[in-house]
Amino acid sequence: MTTIDTTRLAAMFVAITDAMSADRDRLCALDGVIGDADHGIAMELGFAAARDAVAVLDDGTTDPTILLNTAAKSFLNAVGASSGPLYATAFMRGAAAVKGKATLDDADAVAMFQAMARGIQDRGKAEPGEKTMIDAWAPAATAAGEALAAGKGLAG
Ligand SMILES: [Mg+2]
Repeated sequence: MTTIDTTRLAAMFVAITDAMSADRDRLCALDGVIGDADHGIAMELGFAAARDAVAVLDDGTTDPTILLNTAAKSFLNAVGASSGPLYATAFMRGAAAVKGKATLDDADAVAMFQAMARGIQDRGKAEPGEKTMIDAWAPAATAAGEALAAGKGLAG
């Protein structure tokens, strides 16, 4: 079983930021079809801010909840677009879902992810099918829960 500690969570923010940077222009182009073409910029800015904020936390005194709440605050401060409060809410909900845990097992990680998806949906008041990021988050959260129930681990 894969276990996620704060070091790995911080590494995830590095990896996500790299992915957002790599796909920044594509995300902006997709957003531009029906929006203001800034989603890639917002995602790169937000995740870079979160990455930098969690990188300097002390692993010895930081648990996943502190790390995710730190990510929420820094993401919100960095992103003026609507994705700022949406992702900040996601991280705060994820933080609450794993409160009191020093490390996350597969079920914890899925609970965190599903809480994040629910947070985005609640904050944005969106339902699936309305051409929002919920169209990606909701099926992903469902799939993660189904994979866990089927006995699949995070690593495979
Ligand atoms: Mg936009």
